[in-house]
Amino acid sequence: MQIIYKEYNLELKYPFTIAKFSRNSTPVVLLQINFQGFKGLGEASMVPYMGESFSSAKAFLKKVDLSSFTYPFKMDEIIEYLDDLEVGQPAIKAAIDIALHDLIGKISQKPCYELFGSSPDKMPLTTFTIGIDTPEIIIKKVNDALADGFKLLKIKLGRDTDKLLIETIRSVTDLPLYVDANQGWIDKNQGLEMAYWLAEQGVLLIEQPMPKEDVDGNAWLTERSPIPTVGDEAVQRFADVAKAKGVYCGINIKLMKSAGMYEASKMIEEARKHQLKILIGCMSETSVATLAGAALAPLCDWADLDGPFLTSNNPYHTPQFKNGKYILENLNGLGVEHL
Ligand code: MG
Repeated sequence: MQIIYKEYNLELKYPFTIAKFSRNSTPVVLLQINFQGFKGLGEASMVPYMGESFSSAKAFLKKVDLSSFTYPFKMDEIIEYLDDLEVGQPAIKAAIDIALHDLIGKISQKPCYELFGSSPDKMPLTTFTIGIDTPEIIIKKVNDALADGFKLLKIKLGRDTDKLLIETIRSVTDLPLYVDANQGWIDKNQGLEMAYWLAEQGVLLIEQPMPKEDVDGNAWLTERSPIPTVGDEAVQRFADVAKAKGVYCGINIKLMKSAGMYEASKMIEEARKHQLKILIGCMSETSVATLAGAALAPLCDWADLDGPFLTSNNPYHTPQFKNGKYILENLNGLGVEHL
């Protein structure tokens, strides 16, 4: 198996601001694994706050030698090998994992969703994410989302303008909302008051309300909140799933945190064991990682896979999307098509 890759700057349609930072583009690695005439496509999206970069990805890929694996199907062994090479680096590991799944699908002539027993007719609605911004830009983004057919919006909160932001959105649409505080709420009593106010505004879930380190605060809020809470920053890989029980109602799985589809599928099973709900999320991603997430989305309760709609130079066709949901096509592998 041979790995080739290139660095790519994925431009955002609008500068993206959340509670902790703002940015205009995201470095991604577009990766391909060649095997007996088949080509598997993968992607690493390396948002700066996660600590990976072009240089860390390059250094990691230099160490990777898949020649001892004569076949791409041994996912458990390959993931273990990648984890033994270096701790961390989940995004570039995800790029390899996604490319291998695309390859496995193409070789076995099955769509990736079928590899996981995931059924396209159970696809949940996906949200369109709106970052912290001026009222004019927020209204423009809401109109973009409506034009693209979205039926759900996700609003980034966590600053002192939270109520104004929600009121601005409510001046243009009554679509149901998810909110993501990105650890921005510090006081649990204020958080609870906000949760009640948000429930009245048609908000259906709250992602990472308080800092991930404040386990007791998040658990206290979860117990009392009228809206389900979801751990995102607190839940990276498999070992974090069980720890989320009793602290949040659900977990946010992202392939760029879980090191790819294989571990994400294990996390889904583990979450079900602990009666945790599941949101499948994304970073700024092209169609490759988005379709990998969408392949697993029918196994989850909620989806936030808006990458291709928030970026302006996706090098692939935008996946099929109708009435707020991705349509998984019966194509081998991920079903990614080049422009
Ligand atoms: Mg989040």
